[in-house]
Amino acid sequence: METIEEQLLLLKDRVIAYKSELSICRINASALAYMISNLESENQNIKHENLVLKEKIESFYHANLYSHQCKHCGSVKLKKIICIADTFFTCLDCKKESIITIDTVM
Ligand SMILES: [Zn+2]
Repeated sequence: METIEEQLLLLKDRVIAYKSELSICRINASALAYMISNLESENQNIKHENLVLKEKIESFYHANLYSHQCKHCGSVKLKKIICIADTFFTCLDCKKESIITIDTVM
């Protein structure tokens, strides 16, 4: 059976051990908070990039500003593929290409 003194010494050792564990936990917690803040800002950047890409895709699919028609099926859902005096369009409905002469700079 341990004496009161021995028990107190054991308790003191345990308190010291818990204190050092607590300080490690605090360091880990602040490292994690830093990591979270980095990830949040990275996430914001990705969201912004995503938005920019979505807008690019939107403008890409709406590139047929002058409602040119597919020469094969008449669709106006055209995706511009080459932009020169004669513009090549590929039709999203029939997949065929149409060459349309455009005299306006887009
Ligand atoms: Zn077509």
